[in-house]
Amino acid sequence: MENYIVSARKYRPDTFETVVAQKALTTTLKNAIQTGKLAHAYLFCGPRGVGKTTCARIFAKTINCLNPIAGGEPCNECESCRSFNEQRSFSIYELDAASNNSVEDIRSLNEQVRIPPQIGKYKVYIIDEVHMLSQAAFNAFLKTLEEPPAHAIFILATTEKHKIIPTILSRCQIYDFSRIDTADIIAHLQSIAEKEGIESEFEALRIIAQKSDGCMRDALSLFDQMVSFTQGCLSYSKVIESLNVLDYEYYFKLTDYILEAKTSQALLLFNEILSKGFEGSIFIEGVAAHMRDLLVNGDPITAPLFEGSDELRKRYVSQAAKCTPKMLFRAIKLCNNCELNYRTSRNKRLLVELTLIQLSQLTTNDDSEDGGRGPKMLKPIFNKTDQPQTKAQPNRAEAQSAPAATITPQQQPAAPAADKPKEQPTPERRAPIQGRPDTLKRSEQANGGLGGMFRRARTNIENEQPAQADAAVAQQPSAQESTTENKPAGVTGEALVQAWTSFALELPESERALTERMKIIIPEKGEGNNYTIRVDNQLVAQIFEEQAAKIATGMSRFLGGAIMKMKIEINKVAVQRHVYDRTKQYEILREKNPAIEKLRKGLNLELT
Ligand SMILES: [Zn+2]
Repeated sequence: MENYIVSARKYRPDTFETVVAQKALTTTLKNAIQTGKLAHAYLFCGPRGVGKTTCARIFAKTINCLNPIAGGEPCNECESCRSFNEQRSFSIYELDAASNNSVEDIRSLNEQVRIPPQIGKYKVYIIDEVHMLSQAAFNAFLKTLEEPPAHAIFILATTEKHKIIPTILSRCQIYDFSRIDTADIIAHLQSIAEKEGIESEFEALRIIAQKSDGCMRDALSLFDQMVSFTQGCLSYSKVIESLNVLDYEYYFKLTDYILEAKTSQALLLFNEILSKGFEGSIFIEGVAAHMRDLLVNGDPITAPLFEGSDELRKRYVSQAAKCTPKMLFRAIKLCNNCELNYRTSRNKRLLVELTLIQLSQLTTNDDSEDGGRGPKMLKPIFNKTDQPQTKAQPNRAEAQSAPAATITPQQQPAAPAADKPKEQPTPERRAPIQGRPDTLKRSEQANGGLGGMFRRARTNIENEQPAQADAAVAQQPSAQESTTENKPAGVTGEALVQAWTSFALELPESERALTERMKIIIPEKGEGNNYTIRVDNQLVAQIFEEQAAKIATGMSRFLGGAIMKMKIEINKVAVQRHVYDRTKQYEILREKNPAIEKLRKGLNLELT
């Protein structure tokens, strides 16, 4: 530990064989050397830290080796090889174009190129970050590249191939280096740990490999940091602590909560994670990755796609056995939506919480949903112990403890239209109607007075009419008074917010603007089936008035058929305020010139 040399330097490969990954590429280079078919210029492209410069150096060494061994590898023993390895060879010339990008630098390079090598056959010029050369430097270099002396070989390396001008590209043999697989990085780190006598847990190395995102240089420097941080004992717990990675235990726990529909526990878990200083986006990203790992471990064919240790795999396999692929697929989709909306969301915590609530609902919807078109039934979000019940509705408490899982769309087929009373029925008021299927009656008995949350979904066509009428009413200031017809339905404030968000997130891409608007508004539950939204100005109010019918119908699918009446209030304070935020500034701009919205949509831009 005392004379610890940075791993990236100490374990830099010195033969093609020891280069990690990039096998196809090194084989091609070796073949070229063996057959003596060398080009004058090569272009090595690819992400940083994947071995471009390393391969260039090995290549330079091998073609100058005095006794190359079979298979196109350098002997590492002859004078030429030794001078290369000791970095005193005059046959290799490295230029970092990032800092030496002027015409003068290239001119001095051109001078150099004319002088033949002292030992070996070739002089190799490695130009790193070649895309950084100035236009004039490129032009100066092009002349040399067009007519190089027989002993000169150029290896240009770049992370940004698209910035290389075509006249250069056409004169080079191009090699594309790929990102290094996590498994390859882990194996390499393991071998270094063994050689250095460092104790390491597989999972710890996996976290390092994943963090470095296919870049070996990063992986090695992270490895070195971790070795000094943990004093030569790389354990999973120490590594996640110092790399600020969330422990996978959280994800296993969360999945258990989701499977048992323990929404409250899931929300508490999220709170714990936030209190440890983790970002909500990291958590959701991790949940998605966990669900993905469960999905691949659920099927022996895809199991090799999992990169963790065998012990961890066993845990995944056993948890995967409790999940259906359909549920996992939906969970990944929900997490993905949350990730996509995270950046633009104003209330990021609420967004993650809503996603967790939706995840906890997955086990209910699992086998009952007919491709998303059928009515969606919600589980009670909170148990009665979680939320005090109001005395005015004595039968609700009982009802919420009824097993919600028994309510499935199959048990609640849409009854013939004739059965339906004209005005909105609530289960409490609905007398048993003759001629209805028995299953329906039974499920209603089971629900008792669950109210709007579990009310039978009605057909969209039927909902269209009353909803439009509602919208018209909503415009009137007296909207609140005109609700005498509706008995208070059991839609809770939470169910309302959830239905609002679920509907907003479900809108197609073409209605993105509405989705975005809905996401920043939190509907407030009013009397009965009424609710209020507060908007900033008349323009937005008008948009919501126009969309009210659609929103009511859409939300009813998440509320078991309940049609909610939207009341729109313009936020007086917001109008009077003169310090505008970006969104407001944009609203004003757009009011003045509607074309700007067209432009925004056309370019698919978002307000941040
Ligand atoms: Zn040699």
